[in-house]
Amino acid sequence: MDCSIDPSPRRRSVVADEIDDGYSDDARSEATCGGRLTIDLGAIARNYRALTARASGARVAAVVKADAYGLGAGRVAPVLAAAGCDTFFVAQVQEGLALRRDLPTSRILVLNGAASGAEAACLVHRLEPVLNGWEAFEAWSRATRIAGCRGPCAIQFDTGMARFGFALADAGRLAARIPRTDQITVGLVMSHLACADIPEHPANPAQRQAMTALRPLFPTAVFSLAASSGIFLGQSYHLDLVRPGAALYGVAPVPGEANPLGPVVRLEGRVVQVRTVSGGTGIGYGHAARAPGPMHLATLAVGYADGFPRSLSGRGSAWLHGLRLPVVGRVSMDSLVVDVSRAPEGAVAHGDFLDLIGPANGVDGVGKEAGTIGYEVLTSLGRRYARRYLV
Ligand SMILES: *Cc1c(COP(=O)(O)O)cnc(C)c1O
Repeated sequence: MDCSIDPSPRRRSVVADEIDDGYSDDARSEATCGGRLTIDLGAIARNYRALTARASGARVAAVVKADAYGLGAGRVAPVLAAAGCDTFFVAQVQEGLALRRDLPTSRILVLNGAASGAEAACLVHRLEPVLNGWEAFEAWSRATRIAGCRGPCAIQFDTGMARFGFALADAGRLAARIPRTDQITVGLVMSHLACADIPEHPANPAQRQAMTALRPLFPTAVFSLAASSGIFLGQSYHLDLVRPGAALYGVAPVPGEANPLGPVVRLEGRVVQVRTVSGGTGIGYGHAARAPGPMHLATLAVGYADGFPRSLSGRGSAWLHGLRLPVVGRVSMDSLVVDVSRAPEGAVAHGDFLDLIGPANGVDGVGKEAGTIGYEVLTSLGRRYARRYLV
């Protein structure tokens, strides 16, 4: 059939819309993408329930900042709400505003607080800022006074991380101010552990102690200290509410120990070329690798622009079931090359998908190979993948 498409820009989109290319929307996105990202929402719900069982009666909130660690807050948060979660944390007001559309009734807290000027938006959309210092406290009091409404919020104390929160020395003055600032309602007092992923670190009990010492000053507030790793430090760290993020998404909460949570993410790269090269052939940019002998290579259409770390040049892996296929040479922007010489003849062909994150090597393993952590691998996942959500 003669396919004549008018190339003028004004016409082109109309023509493209009219062509039936034979694909459903899902199939088209798979056929036109370099990688396939599968996100198991059922596994996230199971992880939520496993953490609830672990939390010794404390309530379990969910941290869905950074688009639920790159997995899509709009898809993830409603699943968590259906699993029983009623309190959500984001980092920024803009994330809270987007989340409010998906969660009309849940409690949403903003970890970084209301950026100056965003207080009114928080009040209107019922976002609760975490107040991290006096400026934020005064601004929130002012905004609630002007609006003439109550302003629920959280107070954070810096118990030993030097990142966010009121100094412990301010606790008395703050506790005395709150009843007189009657529009401010402090529902939650929180702090964050700096070393929770190192269970034997002495900062952990020191921070816990500082936190529990605040209890009498805020007798009606809910207290929260533990994120994912903190939950696994034991019951004395759970207080009233825990706030996991990473563990919900399958990241191991205690590095180096067996992961009690289930995997959530699978990333497969599409094979777009296979070739055989002879010994001595320079491979990829800078000829950073050279074939030691005849080699079978496969080019996958996933690169650092997709969040596949460039630091995996020469050391990352793709996987054919359990068989490791090493990345050779540099990771490019839109592609990478793997050595498939060890795969059975014909087992890796044009159009196939190979695992980059999957059963054989999860987000923590990839993070380790890349010299980073599973958190960064997740939050770097690119926008170009065909995304599939399993329910
Ligand atoms: C990101 C964050 C969390 C969640 O941490 P995870 O380690 O992902 O569970 C909890 N609390 C605060 C203050 C955070 O910044």
